[in-house]
Amino acid sequence: MSTQDHDHDHHHHDHDHDHPHSPPQPDDKVHSYYQILGIALKELLIEKGVVTAADVRRNIELRDSITPANGAHVVARAWVDPAFRARLLADGNAAAAELGNEITNTKLVAVENTQDVHNVVVCTLCSCYPRDLLGLPPSWYKSRAYRARVVREPREVLKEFGTELPDSVQVRVHDSTADMRFLVVPQRPAGTDHLSEAELAEIVTRDSMIGVALVSPNQ
Ligand code: FE
Repeated sequence: MSTQDHDHDHHHHDHDHDHPHSPPQPDDKVHSYYQILGIALKELLIEKGVVTAADVRRNIELRDSITPANGAHVVARAWVDPAFRARLLADGNAAAAELGNEITNTKLVAVENTQDVHNVVVCTLCSCYPRDLLGLPPSWYKSRAYRARVVREPREVLKEFGTELPDSVQVRVHDSTADMRFLVVPQRPAGTDHLSEAELAEIVTRDSMIGVALVSPNQ
């Protein structure tokens, strides 16, 4: 498990909220074992001069700036450009880099939804996610319930997201790892022939690239 994956949450505490606490605490967050480990590691790396606090801050800022729009551009390009689509399915890292998304340290695997196959992504162990393309994962993605249930009863879980698939469609659940991340290439909806690549990118949602939703022609 990498600290990159797990040291974010405590940086986002918003102390401007005004619901009653009495007395107000400087930081009422209880850190988990691994969060404490992550903080200790970060402090040691800074103390030993391996990285600077500014490096850490810059990296958090960069991570926070990535949104699902990055992934949506990749999907939209795959929809309009069959050669790009083939390159994406063959080598996700190289294809994502063509659109300016540098993915280092992890292998990106693009999996394509078809009439017969629907793909959905999970990290059963923790929260591995294609952060270089989609930004930070939603909280449900990290929840125990999603991680445990989507592998056992994917159709039920998908139904709870409002995604009902015919029995003829095979559901494939992909378990992410620290080294391997998945991007679902959803099906391009019918009735979108007139849309430009940029307009298509706007209808591609985060959830459709995780695989818990389909793309609707009018989001
Ligand atoms: Fe993980």
